[in-house]
Amino acid sequence: MKQHFIIDGKTTQGSNGTFDVISPRDQSILYSMPNASEADVLDAVEAAQRAFPLWRNMGGVERQKLFLAWADLIDANRDMIAAEVSAEMGVLKDDVAGTAAYIADMIRYYAGFIVTNYGDVLSFEDDHMNVVVNEPLGVIAAMPPWNSPIESTIQKCAPALAAGNTVVLRVPEEAPSGGLILAQLAVEAGFPAGVLNALAGMGPESGEALVGHPKVRLVSFTGSAPTGKIIARRCAEQMKPVVMELGGKSPVIIFDDARIADAIESSVSSAFCFQGQICCATTRVLVHESILDEVVKGIAERVERYDVDNEAFPIGPLFNDKVFHTVEKFVALGKKDGTLVAGGGVIERDGGGRYHQPTVFLFKDDSSVVCKEEIFGPVLAIIPFSSDEEAITIANNVDYGLAATVYSENRQRIFRTIRQLESGTVWANCNFKFNMHMPWGGPKSTGIGREFGKYAMKPYLQEKNIWIGN
Ligand code: NAD
Repeated sequence: MKQHFIIDGKTTQGSNGTFDVISPRDQSILYSMPNASEADVLDAVEAAQRAFPLWRNMGGVERQKLFLAWADLIDANRDMIAAEVSAEMGVLKDDVAGTAAYIADMIRYYAGFIVTNYGDVLSFEDDHMNVVVNEPLGVIAAMPPWNSPIESTIQKCAPALAAGNTVVLRVPEEAPSGGLILAQLAVEAGFPAGVLNALAGMGPESGEALVGHPKVRLVSFTGSAPTGKIIARRCAEQMKPVVMELGGKSPVIIFDDARIADAIESSVSSAFCFQGQICCATTRVLVHESILDEVVKGIAERVERYDVDNEAFPIGPLFNDKVFHTVEKFVALGKKDGTLVAGGGVIERDGGGRYHQPTVFLFKDDSSVVCKEEIFGPVLAIIPFSSDEEAITIANNVDYGLAATVYSENRQRIFRTIRQLESGTVWANCNFKFNMHMPWGGPKSTGIGREFGKYAMKPYLQEKNIWIGN
């Protein structure tokens, strides 16, 4: 099912040869994937453009039934999706099966918005009525990342389609099969040809062709901030709106009145989940100087429990060579600028795969580049502070603002801190909580717009103001 594109409701091999998809576990070639050319992108956009009038005008209940059928098919194919995606990502099958169940529910959730896309009546007077209706934009380009290939696909496609748009999905080239399977299942659920098209290819070729196509009305991208900025610049030339979910450098602030054991556990588990290859990994732990020794010791002890063969505290493979070399570069910088607290080395194993120890550094202040740049790997920086104001200054002193965490037993201190954090999400005395109702995204280089919940619908709709005279 996976090694083909879905264009205009049909499967196709594309016209540009193939590329290899590599296993993170042992770096073997999993299979060859068709590589989309510019012509394939044009075909997909044309198909989506042709399907747009039919889809936007289809009755809401009819479209809703298709959403529900799609969700049921995803549920029915959870094991197959899990097998494909876990092989590509190097994660456990059960974890992907859980995500597949979650995205089926997300489709059901957005099905509700199809029939509640209400407008406004602004005035009703003797000589006119003034109303606002919310209309779809047209063809949307959806570009999810390799570290969230099925969830991010649905985060983008479900609200875009629920709003009445059609979609060209460009799946991540390193983990392509999940998105292609989801698009195939939409066709099997009865979605009209061209409503959801999907292809795979290289960024500078198919990615740029899709972003720059004048009939694409909005680009929804998740990836790194540098690539996001290239895409946003390209879109600006065409006055094309974007939804951008880019990187993070998320802080945990541990005040001196915090429940320290809870703060340590959540800081470590969310820093090293999926080897830190998560946009909201808590990669900076800011600690009040009076409890610094205790926290550093606690973090070191907790990190020592990780091992490759430990089911409770697992170390998995890094995703690819790019991630591995970035981690090595930043670990070397950390050894120069800070004090190594735990880890710090590559794990040599038979059978291939790139493994690295969860690594923790203690810094005197946040001046090191390790405390500033997104690494997207298992590297955590501990930074001391001496006052609430300094903690907030350090927390905000990065170019990202995806998520931040605060640990304190003082409610006023928590509220004061929450208000000053430049962050799309703040967790207080908890961490790593997600819900499809809640907005996700953040300011600065973290991006533009929000995904999830009703907030994700907004960019995919445009208001039309109508004056009706008598
Ligand atoms: P990346 O930016 O290197 O690549 C992302 C995608 O962009 C790739 O598929 C690539 O082919 C494509 N691309 C490259 N150049 C392009 C161009 N000129 N035009 C169009 N497309 C182009 O990112 P990555 O390393 O694959 O992903 C990791 C990044 O994603 C991290 O920075 C992470 O924080 C971010 N991320 C963010 C969130 C979030 O919700 N904020 C979620 C997951 C991942």
